[in-house]
Amino acid sequence: MSEVVFIGTSDAFGAGGRRQSAIFARGERGGMLFDCGGTTNTGLAQLEIARDEVDVILISHFRGDHFGGVPAFLYASLYTDARTHPIEIVGPPEIQARVNALAAAMGHHLDDREWTFPIHYREIHAGERFSAGPAEIEAFATQHQPEANPHGYRVRLGREQIAYSGDTGWFDDLPLQIAKSDLFICECTLHHAELDFHLSLEELREHRDDLDCGRLILTHLGEDMTRKRRQIEIETADDGMAVKL
Ligand SMILES: [Zn+2]
Repeated sequence: MSEVVFIGTSDAFGAGGRRQSAIFARGERGGMLFDCGGTTNTGLAQLEIARDEVDVILISHFRGDHFGGVPAFLYASLYTDARTHPIEIVGPPEIQARVNALAAAMGHHLDDREWTFPIHYREIHAGERFSAGPAEIEAFATQHQPEANPHGYRVRLGREQIAYSGDTGWFDDLPLQIAKSDLFICECTLHHAELDFHLSLEELREHRDDLDCGRLILTHLGEDMTRKRRQIEIETADDGMAVKL
């Protein structure tokens, strides 16, 4: 059995007082994060999830609300946790260079430190599949701003398959990419369809019957979505919400 805990469920701007994107999944053989927005350490602390439980950080694309928390995660693992076991950071091409550049811009040069634990970076390309820590990961391209190198994932954790959209607009291949998942965690920034690089409730309602998944949970909620979510028939995530699969 796997468990998923939503650490942060807001859009890029903290809509509704929520934290930025981060989802923790715990399987029988270990744990992983889907994305690591800037507020991830705060969320993990509040929810009493130890950073040590995270064996893999899987990044969907290079926007601050999805990978901005990686440098602070690593530093807290070193200075607060005295971590000793390895961490794998998996993401789109350039993952290591992007994390290094981000850390340097934030005043933390990762190269300057004596790390007490190994940090392994792995690039994953759309169509590729490999094992990392407790998970089997497959990547697919999504419909988002190309300079952010956007990807979605299918992850097998134990017996369960979790699909994650990352940030994306609607694209015709999406139902095929997430098919037969036990859980599809799907971004839904907007109520009305306004942008071609973020999904809306209108589009997901229109395509709901095409999504072959055991459970659909919407996250990355913008202002309008956080205000209206109680009237929405599709399940939406909250910070701290836990789901057993
Ligand atoms: Zn985002």
